Amino acid sequence: MIKRLLIANRGEIAVRVARTARRLGVHVIAVYSEADAGAMHVEYADEAVCIGPEAASESYLNIEAVIAAARATRADAIHPGYGFLSENARFAEACDAAGLIFVGPSADAMRSMGDKATSKSVMEAAGVPLVPGYHGDDQSFEALAKAAAAIGFPVLIKASAGGGGRGMRIAEREGDFSEALDSARREAMGAFGDDRVLIEKYLTMPRHIEVQVFGDNHGNAIHLFERDCSLQRRYQKVVEEAPAPGMDDERRAEIGNAAVAAAKAINYAGAGTVEFIVDATDDGANGPFYFMEMNTRLQVEHPVTEYVTGFDLVDWQLQVANGDALPVTQHEVTLSGHAIEVRLYAEDPARDFLPAPGHVVAFEVPIESTRVRVDTGVRSGGDIAVAYDPMIAKVIAHGADRNTAIAALDGALADL
Ligand code: ADP
Repeated sequence: MIKRLLIANRGEIAVRVARTARRLGVHVIAVYSEADAGAMHVEYADEAVCIGPEAASESYLNIEAVIAAARATRADAIHPGYGFLSENARFAEACDAAGLIFVGPSADAMRSMGDKATSKSVMEAAGVPLVPGYHGDDQSFEALAKAAAAIGFPVLIKASAGGGGRGMRIAEREGDFSEALDSARREAMGAFGDDRVLIEKYLTMPRHIEVQVFGDNHGNAIHLFERDCSLQRRYQKVVEEAPAPGMDDERRAEIGNAAVAAAKAINYAGAGTVEFIVDATDDGANGPFYFMEMNTRLQVEHPVTEYVTGFDLVDWQLQVANGDALPVTQHEVTLSGHAIEVRLYAEDPARDFLPAPGHVVAFEVPIESTRVRVDTGVRSGGDIAVAYDPMIAKVIAHGADRNTAIAALDGALADL
């Protein structure tokens, strides 16, 4: 039984995980960098340990410092949140070696999904549909150019090790390919120290539809329906909703089953998300869907799924980490209404939405109700540090249908 949980994260996700843990009677241990001594997530914990200076590489990403903090506070488990160490297989192994429960999947599952090219090979073998493309080992210019021509332009070049939209370039036509490839490789090398790429057919009318999955260590895997995250900026999600507008029940069952097959292919335990891209040219959300990648952690946008299913995903994560079976079977998961989340960032619109860190003089959030939820790690008098993500809150609204959810969101945003 997890009795003492260390949360290896900061900001809204650390606060959100602490909320559930405390509700379950679990003792919560926060970690913080020197810049975060006064942060909200520290106050939400029963105790807190400083793990290093402001730079994430020396604090939130410092495996030794996090494990040492867990030892010093006699934690029995670590929840990694999202970002930072959450998809780091070495960290999961370090937890194991220290006798700590890592709240997440096995290191092996993380490794097989951590690289876009490897994960595609695994999914291809499991019969999950892939975007037409090339994810082979031959990285010579000739092989890649040949693959691009065979796929047909436009193509999208992606860093195999990529994430956060970095290392991605579109080549509209053959003549653009060489320059787009160089540029993708340069960015991939700078961001990930790895310049391998894969090539996909570029869909000109895409929908990003992802499925929340959950597995346990007893061989069970289920899905909790889909989220539509098609509203993006620079390939990054900004608005997320569930269920996907316009998707019919038959297609919903198909995409859910494909996601469960993906989870089963890697004996997945814990919360995960299987991301698909849908070609919406002819049939909107019911168009053909293709596997993009799997994220082996809780996602930023998990609250919309919590709203439409009524389950607390962090509670489930802790149950699975405890070795329990999933609390429900697939047919006990039902959809109720519609939920939408928007992300609130500290940015300067006049400077092309550059991050705008600084002191928060006043921050008023809408009153929470059964229809409005606000997840944040910042409040009046706090600071938005230069060193971390400038997302300061998520506002999530629920309604009986999409229009009602939009109206509730509108009201909440007016109160912000
Ligand atoms: P990252 O892991 O860097 O976030 P993803 O592979 O998840 O990158 O892609 C990010 C977004 O880019 C997707 O949500 C989608 O909007 C867009 N995208 C990805 N692949 C394609 C594609 N083949 N065609 C068109 N758009 C795509």
